Amino acid sequence: ACLDQIAALNPVLNAFLSVDGDAALVQARAIDAHRAAGEELGPLAGIPIGVKDNFCTTDFPTTCGSRMLDGWVPPYDSTVVARLREAGLVIVGKTNMDEFAMGSSTETSFFGPTRNPWDTDRIPGGSGGGSAAAVAAFMVPLAVGSDTGGSIRQPGSVTGTVGVKPTYGGVSRYGLVAMASSLDQPGPVARSTEDAALLQQVIGGYDRHDSASINQPVPDLVEASRATDLAGVRVGIVSEFKGEGYEPGVLDRFEEAVEVLRGAGAEIVEVSCPSFTYALPAYYLIQPAELSSNLARFDGMRYGLRAGDDGTKSAEQVMNLTREEGFGREAKRRIIIGTYALSAGYYDAYYGSAQKVRSLIQQDFDKAFEQVDVLVSPTTPTVAFRLGERTADPMSMYLADLCTIPSNMAGNAAASFPAGLSEGLPVGLQVMAPPMEDARLYRVGGVLE
Ligand code: GLN
Repeated sequence: ACLDQIAALNPVLNAFLSVDGDAALVQARAIDAHRAAGEELGPLAGIPIGVKDNFCTTDFPTTCGSRMLDGWVPPYDSTVVARLREAGLVIVGKTNMDEFAMGSSTETSFFGPTRNPWDTDRIPGGSGGGSAAAVAAFMVPLAVGSDTGGSIRQPGSVTGTVGVKPTYGGVSRYGLVAMASSLDQPGPVARSTEDAALLQQVIGGYDRHDSASINQPVPDLVEASRATDLAGVRVGIVSEFKGEGYEPGVLDRFEEAVEVLRGAGAEIVEVSCPSFTYALPAYYLIQPAELSSNLARFDGMRYGLRAGDDGTKSAEQVMNLTREEGFGREAKRRIIIGTYALSAGYYDAYYGSAQKVRSLIQQDFDKAFEQVDVLVSPTTPTVAFRLGERTADPMSMYLADLCTIPSNMAGNAAASFPAGLSEGLPVGLQVMAPPMEDARLYRVGGVLE
């Protein structure tokens, strides 16, 4: 059924960059055979899944949505992918994304944009628009994404799916092509809170291959997702994330969602986190700084594209040509911003200041979580915008992650849950929890359903 749905819809949606139906069927039948033989299998054995194209896979190319890695097949599986295979999930294909995960609309993909299944003139969010659209359009029941500044949650919000950014260090980054290493976090995309919990339990937990991996057992997220009330739970509304710039329809759905939480027994208070206002500008110094360092490895020598190597050019000329042709505009913009922010004369003024803001954000979260168990806000200020609407103005594109970035800066757990429609388009409620308290997200999400 999934393969039929992909065949019918992918020509329009462009959610998948690669699909291997034959291999998927062979794997699914093998699982059936194990089951028929009475073997005990995990709860997700045999379930088809899509994987964002920045997770290394030995049986599919891993392009990161970039010409730089067009056709590149990695020599090893990422930990997330290895754990999916071990649990018997069937990887159907790799999903489209903004180039190297930079963007909020999937329009910077070298392989063309993904379209939102709710309205194909609109964006599916980004950078993980492919994973979100694939799940929203019933091409697959589950997908994995990566969230550096909102790339799981914002696509979740605008496609009406559940998207979770686990605690930083909760799911291994090993084999996830690095974008901004201190912010990157893999996580689940699903149609229900319980499905997302089942998936996070499969991919989460300690991995010695990731230096940031937290060596603690994964709490019972599935149990948390089945909660039916919020008695004793204190919910804080972030005062900074409403008002001007937020669509009225988004704010209406947000307030209704808060009422549902109140009705389920939660105590609702307002909490001010003044430094969150500076999270976005600080992110756009730290993220490009780390990115400019991480993308230095794409030099035409080691992976993927090598341009102009006709035997007459120096290594440096080949590197320059490869970068000129291999990277798109947004990648180049951020490499330049990041290199500038890290340069000797400007390091303290830009990168240093941004790191201080990052500490302030952390302190705001710490103070807030002394008063409340979770914080809530709209996931993103607007519903899905139209394709092309924001491509000429990078600032307007960056604003899509206004509410999601603080949790990456602090390493917290955060998620987006569907909260109804505004003029026929999905709206998401963001829930944020302290590190390693991912179960609180699932409890709130489960009740909201
Ligand atoms: N939209 C943000 C950016 O462009 C977030 C990206 C992400 O989370 N990968 O950097």
